[in-house]
Amino acid sequence: MMSGVATGELHDTVRARLLAVGQRYTHQRRRLVEILTRSGNPLTIPEILRGRGLAQSSVYRNLGDLERAGVVRRLVTDEEYGRYELSEDLTEHHHHVICSRCGTVQDLPMRAEVERRMEETLGRLARSVGFAEVSHRLDLIGVCASCAQGS
Ligand SMILES: [Zn+2]
Ligand SMILES: [Zn+2]
Repeated sequence: MMSGVATGELHDTVRARLLAVGQRYTHQRRRLVEILTRSGNPLTIPEILRGRGLAQSSVYRNLGDLERAGVVRRLVTDEEYGRYELSEDLTEHHHHVICSRCGTVQDLPMRAEVERRMEETLGRLARSVGFAEVSHRLDLIGVCASCAQGS
């Protein structure tokens, strides 16, 4: 997912959030934020490490710190590894489509109009059982193009 805020602004926000939990915006943390910004899809730690010469232990630790600072969100999937993406409030609201065979996760673009109508419907449903201030997370499950081809 492309960043919804300008890059300079993004880094200022990340720096401020880290500072708020007593952490510095180090070179590697900035690099991780850049990798996740550019990816467009949530990444596993092996995908983050691939060909970049980063140490797994420090990437793991830094992602944890970024998660605690509210910069990064860890998606819980059926896979052995979690997947990481920038927090929605740093990018924009979106949904995911998950492959039931290989576990790959992609962001799913949706037209604003469709999103708005779905939000209305889901909000109405939640209010009918007494819930207020409703938001949603939505994961679609399917078979990705490369798995479908291989079968
Ligand atoms: Zn939505
Ligand atoms: Zn797949």
